[in-house]
Amino acid sequence: MSFTIALAGNPNCGKTTLFNALTGSSQRVGNWPGVTIDKKVGRIKGTDSELVDLPGIYSLSPYSPEEVVSRNFIIQDKPDAIINIVDATNLERNMFLTLQLIDMGVPMVVALNMMDEVKKNGDKIDVDCLSSSLGVPIVPISAKSRDNVDALVEQIEAAARDGKVPRVMTYDQSIEDAEKAAEEALRGKVPDNSIRFYAFKLLEDDTLLEEMAPGARESISSEIDALEKEYDDSADSIIADSRYSKITECVTGSYTKAPRDERGTLSDRIDKIVTHRILGLPIFACIIAFVYFIAMYDGDWGTSPGAWATGWLNDYIGDVIIPGVADWCAENGVNEVLTGLLCDGILTGVGAVIGFLPQMIILFTCLVILEEIGYMARVAFIMDRIFRHFNLSGKSFIPLLVGTGCGVPGVMACRTIESEADRRITAMTVTFMPCGAKLPVIAAITAALAGAWWVGVFAYFGGIVLVIISGIILKKFKHLAGKPAPFIMELPPYHAPGLWTCLKSIFDRSWAFVKKAGTIILLTAVLIWLLSHFTWSGQFIDPESDMGESILAWIGGGLAYIFAPLGWGLGPDAWKLSSATLTGLIAKEDLIGTLAIVLLGDPDMAEDEVGAALASILTQSGILSFFTFNMFCAPCFAAIGAIHRELGSWKHTGIAVLYQCILAYFVAMIVYVIYGAAIGDPLDWSSYFLCMVFVIILVYLLIAKDPFRQLGKNGEVAE
Ligand code: GDP
Ligand code: MG
Repeated sequence: MSFTIALAGNPNCGKTTLFNALTGSSQRVGNWPGVTIDKKVGRIKGTDSELVDLPGIYSLSPYSPEEVVSRNFIIQDKPDAIINIVDATNLERNMFLTLQLIDMGVPMVVALNMMDEVKKNGDKIDVDCLSSSLGVPIVPISAKSRDNVDALVEQIEAAARDGKVPRVMTYDQSIEDAEKAAEEALRGKVPDNSIRFYAFKLLEDDTLLEEMAPGARESISSEIDALEKEYDDSADSIIADSRYSKITECVTGSYTKAPRDERGTLSDRIDKIVTHRILGLPIFACIIAFVYFIAMYDGDWGTSPGAWATGWLNDYIGDVIIPGVADWCAENGVNEVLTGLLCDGILTGVGAVIGFLPQMIILFTCLVILEEIGYMARVAFIMDRIFRHFNLSGKSFIPLLVGTGCGVPGVMACRTIESEADRRITAMTVTFMPCGAKLPVIAAITAALAGAWWVGVFAYFGGIVLVIISGIILKKFKHLAGKPAPFIMELPPYHAPGLWTCLKSIFDRSWAFVKKAGTIILLTAVLIWLLSHFTWSGQFIDPESDMGESILAWIGGGLAYIFAPLGWGLGPDAWKLSSATLTGLIAKEDLIGTLAIVLLGDPDMAEDEVGAALASILTQSGILSFFTFNMFCAPCFAAIGAIHRELGSWKHTGIAVLYQCILAYFVAMIVYVIYGAAIGDPLDWSSYFLCMVFVIILVYLLIAKDPFRQLGKNGEVAE
């Protein structure tokens, strides 16, 4: 017979590991709560049954989109049975979900996972006793070593076949009375088998029932009042408390803990240091500095493996592959236009991205190892203390960090953020961080501003400030509202990284990076190449001498009107700056390449020469405003593609890009005026005016009341 079986459990309890063990599939596993966000389906080996891996959840209340996905699946798709996977080393917390699942009235088996850890700690669990006090069959397993999973398959098939639902847990009489009243109010409006689940949800004042049974809660308000008066607490706390005390009863009866080392387990002792209030941050800074040192450093102390490999690959592409292809084309009489398109357009554009691959692989390797060991969960925990003040959760930090290497994997790293609002906001703001491709721009501008050392610092801190500002502003919009999910993320025990898991996840991330280069980058490289090599009348031109005639220059000339207030001027050179900004959409370092062509007539000019040329057509404050806009406006197309994947629609992606551009414009304007006034550059009165308007708008958005900030029961702001 074929059944549909749902796999539900807390984040990080081994669901995906079990899913892979049961179905033989190879989903990504991580020592990082929240790795599974969408539900996944597979066939259980040796049976006809389908297994659905639901996102990790702590309860069946709709606190997060994951809880809604999981709950809707169980409610609407009506699986034949549920495997509730439970982390045996964390029974109390995990069983909170178990008690709610029991009330759903669906056949169920508890898979007691991580039994190897329990044994290693010297603890003992009396499975029969636990099973009879809980009223559900329990199978002790170890998903990682695939211990006893066959027995689990047998049990779950039997449960689905027999359709035997678990025995419900009974609570105090007054709670049971209120529950009965709620059941009566709901009868006929909700599925009969799960009525107990709905009844508790009604008492908890869950939004689910506002639609399903409007008015039902009012009809039992006297019963609820009586209950709340008796316990002097709100109904949802009363129910949660009784669930927890039942859990404690069940667990104390069947769990024997071995005497522990006074100082806690090794994991605990390490955590005391690495998550320390004061030491935590510096330790993290050192570790991350080391990672960046290996992946990126190239300076007085030598060249890191990452920088070396990337330098080598870039040279190989630029000095061997591209000239090789050009020669081959020349020998075989390939049309000149086609050769140019292939070599200067496609290979240069795609090569610019692929060149970063070695660095990315090394960066991914370090980050994946840190994640697999369990350290990244600690980092999120440390950063959460800071980010929470700005409406973001600590998990947003990892994408920002990865984003300083390259925006594409940075945006992709948003996957690990469970809260949908946080995930979207982070995906929209990651690219404010200066990525590797912006480094040449920083170098050129440093030169243009007469060696101003602070340009790089400005880019990093500006990026961070914009992320924070965006966190505050964007949360005020309905689509992105929601307080950061409460940090109930369990710190998983440290363990040695698994070779396969690491290799797979390094491969996945690198491959996604390469795929982007092969698709969206390829298309835009072709497009920009065409725009810069043809005139409106379809004539082919050589941009090194006649770029001013090209379609790109025409578009740039039009855009120049938009950028003129930022101090980019409206003179004969204005189109050059806006065209360069456009080509920056392919890859930010293209900005310098284009400037080199249009200002100096040679694509291979060094950054300081480009900087000097820039200084000859712009004021100092104009240079800084040009820089500011280009640092923070829409990222390259590859990153925009990644943002699209995270946000899921082109409409939202468009809004995100527009937001980035407008914010960059505002900030560039403000920087232009403040810096200009400070160093005595001549400024127009209209610049002062616009600057004032932008400051007022930004300040208003920052301090305006957040309409979606949820108020607690007594009107206090919920934490
Ligand atoms: P999910 O978030 O629930 O999908 O959890 P994962 O399957 O990603 O697993 C989380 C972590 O727990 C991973 O590092 C796994 O290797 C580890 N893990 C899973 N099952 C077991 C087990 O039976 N024993 C031990 N010791 N570790 C396990
Ligand atoms: Mg998972």
